[in-house]
Amino acid sequence: MMADSEMVAGTAAGTAAGAAEAAGTRAAHRITLIPGDGIGPEVSGAVVEILEAAGRATGVSFDWHRFDAGADSYEKTREYIPKALYESIEANRVALKGPVTTPVGGGFSSINVTLRKKFDLYANFRPVKNLPGLQTKYPGIDLVIVRENTEGLYVGLEQEIVPGVATALKVVTEKGSTRIARFAFEYARKIGRKKIHAIHKANIMKKTDGLFLACAKRVAEEFPEIAYAEHIVDNTCMQLVMNPWQYDVLLTENLYGDILSDLCSGLVGGLGLVPGANLGTECAIFEAVHGSAPDIAGKGLANPTALLQSAVLMLRHIDEMRAADLVQAGIEDVYRAGKTLTRDVGGKAGTMEFKEAVLGAMEAHGAMAAEAVARG
Ligand code: NAD
Repeated sequence: MMADSEMVAGTAAGTAAGAAEAAGTRAAHRITLIPGDGIGPEVSGAVVEILEAAGRATGVSFDWHRFDAGADSYEKTREYIPKALYESIEANRVALKGPVTTPVGGGFSSINVTLRKKFDLYANFRPVKNLPGLQTKYPGIDLVIVRENTEGLYVGLEQEIVPGVATALKVVTEKGSTRIARFAFEYARKIGRKKIHAIHKANIMKKTDGLFLACAKRVAEEFPEIAYAEHIVDNTCMQLVMNPWQYDVLLTENLYGDILSDLCSGLVGGLGLVPGANLGTECAIFEAVHGSAPDIAGKGLANPTALLQSAVLMLRHIDEMRAADLVQAGIEDVYRAGKTLTRDVGGKAGTMEFKEAVLGAMEAHGAMAAEAVARG
């Protein structure tokens, strides 16, 4: 069975580095980097350093194009998303993104949602899996959330009708629902996953969630080897707490996917761990499930694992499997040893110590590989 993350390889079209390789040279991968704010610069700093080390060990180089977004960008450029950032993603087609704070109850629109819509990154792919050695209440979890990323209540069509009455439009389309369902089923077929649950509230939202379900059901008929079931979202929350092992792939519309992602993160040790990919046909943006964590920002406490595992998804997407395997092996060794873990998962280490531990583990892997080669 392929690794889950392998499915992200080749989802968007090839990169400049791929073209250079075809021409016999090995160009650097040009990657748009949005460090983000809050804990974003801390975790992305650690991740970039680890990727650079993995690149050196495996013959891969990166050309990072860095941009601020959100409030930080506005201060400097009067633009929440600078034009140059859009152009960079358009040109590079791959971005690694830290979290960006979104003001609550007013202010500018979410940078994350805006980028997903702008580049039509319709599939939000979030694998949720235990890390070796990390004790949690739920061992043996291995599920994937496939979340529709451009529609539902996230279209941002809200208005105050009269003082005291506000409405929000939930938009669900046949096209959007069918393509996310097809993404989930094609992924399941490719990776060998067995079961897809469509998550909905069509008992109440009969038209919108009803349409989402009807599309999922239609697509399911084309994949008879994959079991298909439907669960109402509130029941799903209870089921996830009581018996999460029954789930394999959760196919959800936008808002339910957002909420269930955080819930599922909690099953395997928290938001510090779970990665994500926003995938479209042209571009891909890799980012963790978590936000900017203002409560711990600037303290050197943040766990970079979630962004690091997102970067592993990115490495597979750009077809750098050896670098991806090396980083993943480094992460897993550190968790297996359990000595240098961050506080969110019960350890005492800070972001930097964790980063150093992963670098050390990767180096040990590199040395072992070199020894094996020398032994023939
Ligand atoms: P959050 O994910 O930032 O934090 C929730 C809790 O998890 C906090 O206690 C935090 O300390 C902890 N946590 C999160 N990431 C962690 C990590 N890497 N290591 C250790 N602990 C971690 O959620 P929130 O507080 O609800 O949101 C804060 C801001 O982030 C909001 O402005 C929100 O809009 C934004 N946000 C952005 C994104 C994104 O950029 N993709 C995603 C979610 C939330």
